[in-house]
Amino acid sequence: MRDTLVLNASFEPLSTVTLNRAVVLVLQDKAVVEQAHPELRMRGAAVDIPAPRVIRLCRYVRVPFRRNAPWSRRGVLVRDRYRCAYCGRRATTVDHVVPRSRGGGDTWLNTVASCAEDNHRKADRTPEQAGMPLLREPFEPTPADAMLLALAQDDYEALPDWLAQSAA
Ligand SMILES: [Zn+2]
Repeated sequence: MRDTLVLNASFEPLSTVTLNRAVVLVLQDKAVVEQAHPELRMRGAAVDIPAPRVIRLCRYVRVPFRRNAPWSRRGVLVRDRYRCAYCGRRATTVDHVVPRSRGGGDTWLNTVASCAEDNHRKADRTPEQAGMPLLREPFEPTPADAMLLALAQDDYEALPDWLAQSAA
């Protein structure tokens, strides 16, 4: 899947989304196409538009200097791009690095995407105890990542207030 660059209304680059997501934003009049692929078109029952390479949001989005994205299981999967932190294969579950039974919390830094097999194998142990080192360290999403997570949600009404607001 090709990624489309998303610009703020001020033309400042914000993030990238999938081509399909970009088309949805354009069809919902939330963004306009700034640059399209020269030969690629998106065709559907009621759609025939050039495939967007760059889109620009119609309303200015103020990205706060510091804003933590709320933790969610789906957010962890999106952050880790649905890749298991232990084996790199497709992940469908969220694993607590320090198990909840040992006081580990629902936080960005304590959770990683995991395949069901590894999640089950690791059970109530830390990665060290299980002999299952993390392929990469979990991280706290940045404000730009937070926007990406929101755009990745199927429910557009779930966009955070600071994204839906027009700063005019
Ligand atoms: Zn795995």
